[in-house]
Amino acid sequence: MKASELYFPTLREVPNEAEIVSHQLLLRAGFMRKTAAGVYTYLPLAKRVLSKIETIIRQEMDRAGGQELLMPIIQPKELWEKSGRWSVYGDEMFRLKDRHHRDFSLGPTHEEIITSLVDMDVHSYRDLPLLLYQIQNKYRDEIRPRFGLMRSREFIMKDLYSFDVDEEGLDLSYRKMYEAYCAIFSRMDLDFRVVEADSGAIGGSESHEFMVLAESGESLIVYCDNCDYAANVEKAECILPPEESRDVPELEREKRSTPDQYTIEDVAAFLDMPRSSLVKTLMYVVDDELIAVLLRGDRELNEIKLQNALQCEDCYMADEVQVREVAGAGFGSLGPVGLPVPIYADLEVARMRNFACGANEDDYHYINVNPGRDFTPAAVLDLREAAAGDLCPHCGEPLKTIRGIEVGHIFKLGTKYSEAMEASFLDQQGQTLPLVMGCYGIGVSRTLAAAVEQKNDENGIIWPLPIAPYHVIIVPVNVKKEEQMNTALAIYEDLQEQGVEVVLDDRDERPGVKFKDADLIGIPIRITIGPRALQENCVEMKKRWESEIELVPIEKVTGSILDLLSQYKSV
Ligand code: ATP
Ligand code: MG
Repeated sequence: MKASELYFPTLREVPNEAEIVSHQLLLRAGFMRKTAAGVYTYLPLAKRVLSKIETIIRQEMDRAGGQELLMPIIQPKELWEKSGRWSVYGDEMFRLKDRHHRDFSLGPTHEEIITSLVDMDVHSYRDLPLLLYQIQNKYRDEIRPRFGLMRSREFIMKDLYSFDVDEEGLDLSYRKMYEAYCAIFSRMDLDFRVVEADSGAIGGSESHEFMVLAESGESLIVYCDNCDYAANVEKAECILPPEESRDVPELEREKRSTPDQYTIEDVAAFLDMPRSSLVKTLMYVVDDELIAVLLRGDRELNEIKLQNALQCEDCYMADEVQVREVAGAGFGSLGPVGLPVPIYADLEVARMRNFACGANEDDYHYINVNPGRDFTPAAVLDLREAAAGDLCPHCGEPLKTIRGIEVGHIFKLGTKYSEAMEASFLDQQGQTLPLVMGCYGIGVSRTLAAAVEQKNDENGIIWPLPIAPYHVIIVPVNVKKEEQMNTALAIYEDLQEQGVEVVLDDRDERPGVKFKDADLIGIPIRITIGPRALQENCVEMKKRWESEIELVPIEKVTGSILDLLSQYKSV
């Protein structure tokens, strides 16, 4: 491709709406344009990257026994009613009506379609296992579409669904997918980590997320350097250290005036004690019932743990009116003593002695409150969000945290959908059993953005070779010099003949401008053809991820590029 013909409209300014570097770079380097909030057009450079990502995914899915199909984006309401999700999916689902006023959704995911599809034609254990996948646009009306392709409302996903006769079969399919996903992200040359993920209150027994590591990632991961434990904080279990002496004397409870002190920070400073000596009381509405949650003052609630522990469908923070009606005080002065609702205490709180907390009276707090003596929790549960320094639940060493971008998610569904949708098969004994399912997603467009988020510098994108839009860019310093242009053309043609994807920057621009563009769009190998090197029958070769420039004899250029590419060729 000649750069003069390539459509890559670069921008000089960083667009205002782009908060994170991948969003900025993909707009600036002419990879995409916004069509509507959370809806993007992929320009030619991005389309090439997407195709490469898809090719790697297809190869690994096929290798693992997957078969590609293509399901409709438009999905009839009836199928979603059968699974029970039409009413629970909520506002994230785009809904539409046809001319006969029949309801449809724009597919946010495809469990319903595939389960009903497989049910039509699969009747016997002999037809199983079955691994079916597609690569297709998905639609989710996200509350906060942001970060460009990271969280968009139309995005590309690979989704595979596995159907097995029993849990053992599911384990095997799950393992295959786990390994295929590791192969996929390794082949893309991305720095990633597999973490244990939450699998929800109902259904799913096991789940892992694949995280591309990046500081701006929306997911916080705890991991252990000592063993291989790693988990999304949403999932990470918190364990208590061995208990120190229990015979701290319980002091007499006292009420203290704390005028205008509302936050934990304020109250701790006012009472002159660390936040960890306070207990915070949160009130939640859980399936229409008001409850209280107690956490150590310096901890955060993990709502997913709360929801899982209480096995509830619905869980949100109570508002000031509800809180005042029950507790007789506002948010800033809540506490467990005399609170007439079920109280769920975090593990740590149950062990605390002589802590401070709200007195359920505006502008007052208690000090020296003790569990058991001053209040009785309905249950003591693991409710807090894991944090750096917590103990590893596998080996007890302190955990660390890093941030990641969730690019893939694998999930054991079991019989949740097959039972709801009555999708069954006959086993060897002629018994009717529900299909045992798993689902496995990769965010294809999010992976493109995640690669940019992880691999960039102040000059632009640094594409890993296996997913770069082009492998090589040839930059003649002065296109008007015949010798430079002829050499450039000769190398260009030779590389193309060898199957190397190459751009020839034939634009009549200053070399500085061309170098800037090459760096911005992130093409991994740059060949510069200038007068000085040519005198020695050489050209300059620079790898985007290194600062050194190498002099390479013209006749060796193609060979050394092929060598480099062969390191990444798929097996
Ligand atoms: P998230 O927690 O980020 O919303 P999810 O759990 O809803 O993700 P899944 O339903 O498991 O996501 O979808 C599979 C994959 O699709 C995700 O791992 C992610 O890579 C991608 N994905 C999900 N939502 C979006 C989105 N709004 N924009 C781009 N990619 C997405
Ligand atoms: Mg989501």
